[in-house]
Amino acid sequence: PSAFGVRAPVARARVHMAGNDERTYIMVKPDGVQRGLVGQIIGRFEQRGYQLKGLKLMQPTEALLRQHYNELVTKAFFPRLLEYMLSGPVCAMVWEGKGVVATGRMMLGATNPQASAPGTIRGDYCIDVGKNICHGSDSVENAEREIGLWFSADELLSWTPHSRPWLYE
Ligand code: ADP
Repeated sequence: PSAFGVRAPVARARVHMAGNDERTYIMVKPDGVQRGLVGQIIGRFEQRGYQLKGLKLMQPTEALLRQHYNELVTKAFFPRLLEYMLSGPVCAMVWEGKGVVATGRMMLGATNPQASAPGTIRGDYCIDVGKNICHGSDSVENAEREIGLWFSADELLSWTPHSRPWLYE
């Protein structure tokens, strides 16, 4: 019982189940920052119940972007992508929670905003594939790779959100 004589939620013991600590790398791209959408995007992940582990506004370098988009460097659109991503600061984030990689991608919407359903971030806030305001890792493996590129270990915090027992069964 707590100080108020109320029993802790029964879910308490199960919230540390394996898989609840999955992480993803989410980034608000330069157009999202310029358009003042950082708060909206953070808010959606917070509201869903995911946990913020790291957050910073930064100007990415070409070297970092070449590593981040290493699978796309041979694409015809890569020079435009590079110019776009170098055009201003980005907001880099790490979010944690059960299934956050796949759910994060669903929350972002399709790569091409015109194929993104209303209700998704891209489906609500943008139009063109070359200005699609946000990035989200596409696999657990890539998420860990990207988190390692964009954040140092001491920039990722370990903390216990008070709402966790109310989010997980
Ligand atoms: P996602 O960001 O959804 O994982 P990709 O990894 O395929 O998509 O592409 C990375 C980014 O490159 C996209 O988010 C988009 O900003 C840009 N991009 C992808 N395809 C095109 C294209 N055909 N023309 C211009 N930019 C593109």
